[in-house]
Amino acid sequence: MTDIQKRLAKLEALNAEHLRQIEAVTASESKYRVLLDESSDPIFMFDPEGQYLYVNRAFAEGVNRKLDEIIHHKIWDVFPKDEADKRFAVVKWVFENRETKIIEVRVPRADGDRYYITTAKPVFGADGKVASVICISKEITERKRMEEELRRANEQLSAQLAEIESLHETLREQAIRDPLTGLYNLRFLAESMKREIAQATRDKVSLSVVLMDIDNFKDFNDTYGHKAGDEVLQALGRILSSKTRAGDIACRYGGEEFMVIMPSAHPQEAFRRADQWRKIFASTHITDKGRVLSATLSAGVATFPDHGSTDDEIWHAADDALYKAKSAGRNCVMVYQRPTG
Ligand code: GH3
Ligand code: MG
Ligand code: MG
Repeated sequence: MTDIQKRLAKLEALNAEHLRQIEAVTASESKYRVLLDESSDPIFMFDPEGQYLYVNRAFAEGVNRKLDEIIHHKIWDVFPKDEADKRFAVVKWVFENRETKIIEVRVPRADGDRYYITTAKPVFGADGKVASVICISKEITERKRMEEELRRANEQLSAQLAEIESLHETLREQAIRDPLTGLYNLRFLAESMKREIAQATRDKVSLSVVLMDIDNFKDFNDTYGHKAGDEVLQALGRILSSKTRAGDIACRYGGEEFMVIMPSAHPQEAFRRADQWRKIFASTHITDKGRVLSATLSAGVATFPDHGSTDDEIWHAADDALYKAKSAGRNCVMVYQRPTG
């Protein structure tokens, strides 16, 4: 063999080896390619300019486009600008930081949004730079849907609980309130008297009660009607609600009978306040069927421990003082006086 023939044979052998290598690489590449193409998880690859170098069928299906509408197109051709900017910012971050990033993404679709967990990984070139970024998404739409359902169910449950709680509260209120005036009722008054006297005993302080009764109310009702009478009761309810202090307990415990418990009040103070309410009430007018009407009240004051040491004794003392106020001509306030002699 000549030199030339020898070199030619060597070259042919090299060529054959090279071809074998190319075949082998192509074969393994197409093997991996099948894996990528057929993956049910969306896989896509970007160049530094945001161009899709590769996308698989799952990705195309996920964004509802054909493969050739995506590959070699930029992300801004596939997603609306805001969405594309947001997504590419992540890809850009991976290009710049050379690190993997994992994010959650939402793909809006007419048939219902889809959710993915996307892992964006840098792919390094021979020069050591990030040549491309490959992203693999795992669909979590179903998990999201269940989370959302759970959240909604929870919300509904909380709303129902709040409603039940508010109904309970209403019931509790109804049980202790007089519906006509909104003041506390007899049941609450009786409980409060016991509780507040026990407290005053412990604290060694006074407690006064003011018992009030509307004057000649039977006549008022007979003359002007029950409805006008109700309005008078409501007017007194408003006065006692607004002109009592925090801590005072205002009640309508009977038809036209009211009581205010005044913790720590001395007789003089209770008298002064009761007389204020009396004057305000007497000068309050209600209109009914074009008539301007008003009424007056009488009141009795009794104080713990000066006039009694139990709720019954205090109540009786206040009742006694009220009776004196009625006897004295009505529209006045009397403080209980112990019988002399
Ligand atoms: P006195 O000055 O001595 O208290 O006379 P009075 O007429 O107010 O006393 P009496 O206890 O005889 O009358 C109470 C009246 O209160 C009887 C009833 O017509 C009226 N009354 C009781 N409850 C209500 C009510 O809920 N609405 C109305 N409109 N009237 C009521
Ligand atoms: Mg009465
Ligand atoms: Mg009366």
